[in-house]
Amino acid sequence: MTEEKTEYRTEGYANAGENRKEASIIGFYRTMGISEEVCDLGSRVLSALEDRFRKIDETAEYNQMKVLKAMQDNRVSEACLLGTTGYGYNDLGRDTLEAVYASVFHTEDALVRPQITCGTHALALALMSNLRPGDELLSPVGKPYDTLEEVIGIRDSAGSLKEYGISYRQVDLLSDGSFDYEGIRSALNEKTKLVTIQRSKGYQTRPTLSVSAIGRLISFIKGIRPDVICMVDNCYGEFVERIEPTDVGADMCVGSLIKNPGGGLAPIGGYIAGRKDCVENAARRLTSPGLGKEVGASLGILPQFYQGFFLAPTVTAGALKGAIFAANLFERLGLPVVPNGTESRHDIIQAVTFNDPKGLIAFCEGIQAAAPVDSFVVPEPWDMPGYDSQVIMAAGAFVSGSSIELSADGPLKPPYAVYFQGGLTWPHAKFGILKALQRCVDAKTVKLP
Ligand SMILES: *Cc1c(COP(=O)(O)O)cnc(C)c1O
Repeated sequence: MTEEKTEYRTEGYANAGENRKEASIIGFYRTMGISEEVCDLGSRVLSALEDRFRKIDETAEYNQMKVLKAMQDNRVSEACLLGTTGYGYNDLGRDTLEAVYASVFHTEDALVRPQITCGTHALALALMSNLRPGDELLSPVGKPYDTLEEVIGIRDSAGSLKEYGISYRQVDLLSDGSFDYEGIRSALNEKTKLVTIQRSKGYQTRPTLSVSAIGRLISFIKGIRPDVICMVDNCYGEFVERIEPTDVGADMCVGSLIKNPGGGLAPIGGYIAGRKDCVENAARRLTSPGLGKEVGASLGILPQFYQGFFLAPTVTAGALKGAIFAANLFERLGLPVVPNGTESRHDIIQAVTFNDPKGLIAFCEGIQAAAPVDSFVVPEPWDMPGYDSQVIMAAGAFVSGSSIELSADGPLKPPYAVYFQGGLTWPHAKFGILKALQRCVDAKTVKLP
């Protein structure tokens, strides 16, 4: 059979130009609804990011070795992938996984469980188990993540820390985003038992904290009150840098397994890595005094926990590239982006401000249309409980609500900002962003340069 007569069924080949012998990605993108102009702009923006992407790959390589070494040092075996049922006594895989987390975070101990239902639960557990009536909790970095307001009792809620006689104090960041050291000094008092530091900006406009900035804050606090427990909400931050907050003095790091450390494979779960007594307190609250870490069957979930953690450094790197690509692409179009295109990164969240509801909606439609699951549905703004405006959300994830997978959301109110994160692979994050841009172009909310 001659070359001419071969029938190529590969998408992209037909559009790749007459003399091409290879299927082309540009051609494939065209069949997926991305115009040549959008592809071109994407390529131009990308070519300027090579250096940064190489640094991200180097960080992923470093963190990959960190996880691998922890698995080898703790003698992860095939038997560790089997689960237990019932009480879950002597669950080798669960106990070994917790030792692996402790090695990666350089802590004395860790609690990594499917019974921890989400990030909020992990944080609530760490707080409620380490605070006692009469103690005070301090946030020296401003208001914590929305879902913690009811945990702490900032918004009155049954079962809050406040209801148990635990008071709360907050010191906001200064207007330039730096720590208010004098404010923190005077807020620390004899009742202060635990300090909570949120690494990621979450859905606020303050900068995300670098691990070294967290280290400086912890040194300052420990210099005044060495006995105070410093806890870091590490959500969205894991593996973005080579060190974690527990490497710079944090007594506990807390996060969700349906974000970075689950690597997209964990279908549920949370972790607390830290000082032995802090982790033991959390285990006793999760299960029961007297039982602690000894119970809690892992059922069949351990292969996903292990493999997800193993993949987490490269998955996080892909999401990070997506965030940086989106920042640079939309910045090029004149839209405000946080962080900006050149800032150093300490989490995987990217905000793009449209100042126009149509732009926010089009962006989310594009992310949804790029998804592997539910790509055919169109997201619509809805009245979500707990929000004072409608919210639009795009997610076509393998794990429901997983935000290490490509996802975007934003409240339908000025300044109409979309918060975007995730992508299990860099190629998927890239395609999702191009698709989102294409929708914005089609809706005439942005103009290509
Ligand atoms: C996601 C997140 C949480 C809460 O985690 P959930 O799994 O959604 O409950 C807490 N803090 C920060 C900074 C987060 O990003």
